Amino acid sequence: MNKGNLIVLSGPSGVGKGTVLKKLLQEYTDIEYSISATTRPSRKGEIDGKDYFFLSLEEFFQKVDNNQFIEWAKVHDNYYGTPRDYVDKTLGEGKDIILEIDIQGARMVRESYPEAIYVFLLPPSFDELEKRLNKRGTEDEKTKEIRLRNARTEMKELANYDYQIINDDLDETVEKLKAIIIAEKCRVRK
Ligand code: 5GP
Repeated sequence: MNKGNLIVLSGPSGVGKGTVLKKLLQEYTDIEYSISATTRPSRKGEIDGKDYFFLSLEEFFQKVDNNQFIEWAKVHDNYYGTPRDYVDKTLGEGKDIILEIDIQGARMVRESYPEAIYVFLLPPSFDELEKRLNKRGTEDEKTKEIRLRNARTEMKELANYDYQIINDDLDETVEKLKAIIIAEKCRVRK
């Protein structure tokens, strides 16, 4: 049996990765989603084990020490990591799996999974990104500032991704992402 594809989705905070992923997973069921672990406090409405595995710093670093993450990184002052077990099990079963991780994590994944497919989501503009972060209203001013500053650094990384999608229209973005995933299924790897 062929292994599944690992799809890595990155993009600056506020670009709409969560919304895009949610819609993709509703419309396209032939892919699994990797739930990350984080030390960030949960936001209103977030469910442990569904949105993230919310861990204490101690629990998180125990997993780091035990090599239980395929990648991990400090993003905007909190730690995030991708549990290894679920990714490898899913790929081994021949199923595709998608990760939504930051650029540092993606760099780390590239070392152990060079054959993965890397997709970068872009905002139509910085003004729009700021607007979206304001609208989301989940961050205080300082956090928002950090996220916007990080966005400029993150954008420099986009050339290292196989695909770039400008998230202007949600439906179109999801269609494009779906098309990439399906096309990659058919690609014969050398
Ligand atoms: P948020 O706190 O808004 O849910 O996520 C903040 C950032 O952390 C986003 O850029 C998201 O892509 C990234 N992120 C979420 N999960 C992971 C992960 O498992 N690993 C890494 N490296 N980044 C993650």
